[in-house]
Amino acid sequence: MRRFKRVINTGDKFTRLTVIKLYKKIVGKKYAKCKCECGSIKKVLVSSLISGNTKSCGCLCIEKRYFNNRIHGMRSSRVYRIWSGMKSRCNIPSASGYKYYGARGIKVQKEWKKFEDFYADMGDPPTNRHELDRIDNEGNYTKNNCRWVTEIQQGRNRRSNKNINIDGVKMTLSEACEKFGADYRRTLDRLNLGWNPLKAIKTKKCEYGDRFSSKFKDAYKKRREID
Ligand SMILES: [Zn+2]
Repeated sequence: MRRFKRVINTGDKFTRLTVIKLYKKIVGKKYAKCKCECGSIKKVLVSSLISGNTKSCGCLCIEKRYFNNRIHGMRSSRVYRIWSGMKSRCNIPSASGYKYYGARGIKVQKEWKKFEDFYADMGDPPTNRHELDRIDNEGNYTKNNCRWVTEIQQGRNRRSNKNINIDGVKMTLSEACEKFGADYRRTLDRLNLGWNPLKAIKTKKCEYGDRFSSKFKDAYKKRREID
C-alpha cells in the first residue's frame, strides 16, 4: 500500500522532534529543521519524519542502547538473581523450592515475565539484606503483593502463626520476644527443647550448663560465630 502524501508544517511534532523550519526541495528531497526534546537542532529528511524512521536527534538511540546495556549488565546483579529465582520457583518443577511455590499455585504476574518490567516496578533492594517478600503469603508475586523487607521482617511474617502463652496472654512468639527483649532464635530453640515458654523468654543468657543437648550447643556456638 502506498503511503499517502502528507503535508507537514512547522510546529508539527514527530516523537521527540518538532519542526521549526521547512527547507525548499534539494535535489528532489525535502528537509526540515527540527528541534529535539533534548535541545539539539537537526536537519532531517521529511520523508523519514513521516515514516517514523527518524524520531529524535539520535539521543533516543543512545538512551535505548544505554538502557539495554544496563539491563544486560545487570544479569550478574543480586536483583536479577532474585527475579530469576522467583520465576524458577514458580514455573520450573525441577527448581528448588518449586513444591512450596509453583506446586502450591503461586504464580508470577505476567507483567514480570521480562526482567526490565520487574525492575521498573520493584527497583533495587534497598540493601543487600533486603529480600523480596510477598505480603500475603498465599498470594502471587504481583506488584501489589511484593515488597523488599529485611530477613527479620520477613521472618516475623512467616513466624507470626507461632503463638505462645505468657502469663495467660496469648501472643506470637516474635511479639513476646520483642516485649521481653529476648532473642527469637534462642527462644525458639528452647521451646523446641521443651522449655516452658515463660522460662524460655525470660532466661537471659544461654549457659552451657543448661539442659542443652550437645547438638544444640554446637548449633548455638555456630550461630554466635555468625552473629
Ligand atoms: Zn535529542
